[in-house]
Amino acid sequence: MSMTREDKQLEEIMVADLMIPSEKVAHVQLNNPLEHALLVLIGSGYFAVPVLDESNKLAGSISKTVILDQILGNERYEVERLSQLKVHEVMDKIVSVPHDAPLIDGLKAVIDEPFVCVVDEPGYFVGILTRRAILKVLKREYYRR
Ligand code: AMP
Repeated sequence: MSMTREDKQLEEIMVADLMIPSEKVAHVQLNNPLEHALLVLIGSGYFAVPVLDESNKLAGSISKTVILDQILGNERYEVERLSQLKVHEVMDKIVSVPHDAPLIDGLKAVIDEPFVCVVDEPGYFVGILTRRAILKVLKREYYRR
């Protein structure tokens, strides 16, 4: 009989047990124009989403703040820049953790970030780990012990 996440001790939980799998994660591609990224961000309601390359490897992240900074001119919003600039020109670097890392590594990674990306051995994007997911497990454990 296989063990569910709830049956596992804290020390046995792996990042992959807690991550949101890639198929459920909103993301953009390196060559998308900023206007597409902004639509994804506004449509999903997230402040930032991962950026993937054409082979689904993790490349970075893009946030609403970065996009708004890019279109803020001296006297007006330069909205034409939304179609001129590509995601890879303005994206941020992002922290990643391996899918087979223990919970404690995921916890350390989300102390400074609301989410981190999860990658497999060759560096392909497999999901995200959110601070919320880690906090939920810690809360459950607090009441269980
Ligand atoms: P949450 O803990 O659910 O508030 O998520 C924290 C951050 O993780 C969000 O602001 C997003 O940047 C990112 N995030 C969470 N869920 C998703 C998702 N399904 N797709 C893309 N990004 C997500």
